[in-house]
Amino acid sequence: MKEVLKSFGENLFSLKTMKETVSSEVYESLAATINAGKALDPEIAGEIAQAMKDWAIDNGATHYTHWFQPLTGSTAEKHDSFLKPDGEGGAIARFKASELSMGEPDASSFPSGGLRATFEARGYTAWDPTSPAFLKKVDGVVTLCIPTIFCGYNGEALDMKTPLLRSINVLSEQVCRLGEFFGIDSTDKRAEVTLGCEQEYFLVDQSFYAERLDLLQTGRTLFGQTPAKHQQLDDHYFGAIKSRVLVYMAEVDRELWKLGVPVQTRHNEVCPAQFELAPLFEELNLAVDHNMIIMEILRTVAEKHGFACLLHEKPFAGVNGSGKHNNWSVAGPDGKNWLTPGNDPHENAKFLAVICALMKAVDTWAPLLRSTVATAGNDHRLGANEAPPAIISVFLGEQLFDVIEQIEKGKAESSKSGGEIKIGISSLPPMPRDATDRNRTSPFAFTGNKFEFRAPGSSQNTSAVNFILNTIVADALQEMCDEIDAAMAEGTEFNAALQVCLHEIVKKHKRILFNGDNYTQEWQDEAARRGLPNLRTTPEALSALLDEDAIALFEKYNILTRAELESRYEVYMEVYRMTIRIEADTAVTMARTQIPLPVIEFQKELAESITVTEGLGCDMKESKLLLQEVAREFENLIKKTKVLESTSLHNPEDAIAAMNDLRETVDRLEHICPKELWPLPSYAEMMFVM
Ligand code: ADP
Ligand code: MG
Repeated sequence: MKEVLKSFGENLFSLKTMKETVSSEVYESLAATINAGKALDPEIAGEIAQAMKDWAIDNGATHYTHWFQPLTGSTAEKHDSFLKPDGEGGAIARFKASELSMGEPDASSFPSGGLRATFEARGYTAWDPTSPAFLKKVDGVVTLCIPTIFCGYNGEALDMKTPLLRSINVLSEQVCRLGEFFGIDSTDKRAEVTLGCEQEYFLVDQSFYAERLDLLQTGRTLFGQTPAKHQQLDDHYFGAIKSRVLVYMAEVDRELWKLGVPVQTRHNEVCPAQFELAPLFEELNLAVDHNMIIMEILRTVAEKHGFACLLHEKPFAGVNGSGKHNNWSVAGPDGKNWLTPGNDPHENAKFLAVICALMKAVDTWAPLLRSTVATAGNDHRLGANEAPPAIISVFLGEQLFDVIEQIEKGKAESSKSGGEIKIGISSLPPMPRDATDRNRTSPFAFTGNKFEFRAPGSSQNTSAVNFILNTIVADALQEMCDEIDAAMAEGTEFNAALQVCLHEIVKKHKRILFNGDNYTQEWQDEAARRGLPNLRTTPEALSALLDEDAIALFEKYNILTRAELESRYEVYMEVYRMTIRIEADTAVTMARTQIPLPVIEFQKELAESITVTEGLGCDMKESKLLLQEVAREFENLIKKTKVLESTSLHNPEDAIAAMNDLRETVDRLEHICPKELWPLPSYAEMMFVM
């Protein structure tokens, strides 16, 4: 443990490292940018660049890269060497302020959704000093990675981080504004959005992975017979971790700690071969970067241990898929978590104001929130009985729900009598944390001191989720503050004004609250009666990005322009269509080149055996029926492959239906044909051989 403690953050150019390597003025200036959101002083970049380069080179680096998050959903890097010829036949290591601050990668091949034509494809990366630079070490090759935003020639956002950073500022402003009403000073301070992502993943042995074209090409199995035993006995969940997996997990933890990622928990998940890792929560922008790093470390360390790490939302049909619970909260300018119920009526009032703002935000903008988790992979999860449904609702737990009902009943002018909460005067009933944590079926659950959005998929970059969440909450807070201001201008006292405001919010948005089992048909029916949207597929869900009100919202807060939003819609739709197409084409390839031969062989052997055995006078009725079934399914295989092949990129729904249909036949054939002949590793092998 001592070694581990010492190595924490050793691959990170942290504030601590900076304190030791730059002048105190530069350190103070940068610390103010990181901690208080002060604009970066460009004058300090030179000294920081120098210190960063020396530190990186001392640690074995030869190259640096601007590390950014384009709309592909992954991270991007283009390495540049520190080495520069000195003009006299030798070389020096150099890293200028401008090289730290700005980069200009050729951006022509990154998705832009029509924002730029390739001939004007200049893209710029700009240093994000709020996320520390780090060293990536791959088999002894060390690269300095500098987190950056990525934008186009005219400043259009082409990445995930830009709108996220903008939204953090917007939300912080509104939280501080609300704080002023409660007498909380926010001069030179800001609110901090916090995030802790629980990351689920699967591991399969490399040798199986290499034999599955579907896993190699699409990240999920397109065929595969569900084995007799999988997760029915719940014996994997929190079970003893197998040694090979534990050794892997331990190395993942060590690597992440070196990068300053505070990973905390590790355990077996519900499905065999499924696991989870969760870090302690951190400031949102940092937590998002760290989640991207976590996914990369999970993958690369897996290779060293002979595993393939699957981050797809649904690697195996018929069993649980993987999500990424997005635990979100806000710490005010007072440094306290504002989603923690307070000890006195004053604190409670603030807590209830934030809860009501969230209710209003989620109800008003449910389709937008749904759009943030809309991907081809996640379509397999949402609505299946393992993940929340595509209907967005909020779970508050019984006690808090009770309080909300009392706010609904209460009026500003009424005195505090039984069953009414008087804002700023009443105390709240105690809210034990675990009582709120029991509902695992809700997409958006209050879990004691944070909201847990459970719909995001395991492979997603959570920026999109959080910049939209921040923006809709900021908007709800802004309207709330405007109303309170207006009422106070007319002489209403603050608590009374807040009471009226919360009362109105609850009346209007209570329909978003649901404490029951979100997996049931009754909830689907009830949600329909309440008029809550149920956007089942990615194309349906993504259309929320083109909604005029949504565009106006993002433009109002300068998060994204109309053009930027439209481009994102285009990119996400294209990724969706392409993903389905790649799956369809992979399925066709497998059905044409891998499945037929074993079936023909079996058919031939069976036919020969029947002829011979029948010649001896045996009754071969059942064998003939089996032969007929094999022959029939083989015909189906050819027919259904042709149907799938004829579907087009532009009709993903047709392709999905045709893939499911083909899968039925292939899985049936896997069930009938001898194991020795079947070319693909089975579900049982992939899930249980570790
Ligand atoms: P579970 O949901 O499985 O019960 P935990 O209660 O341990 O798991 O919390 C899951 C995640 O929530 C962790 O990453 C934790 O750090 C994070 N979390 C806790 N408090 C906050 C907070 N105030 N803001 C954001 N995330 C938080
Ligand atoms: Mg959780």
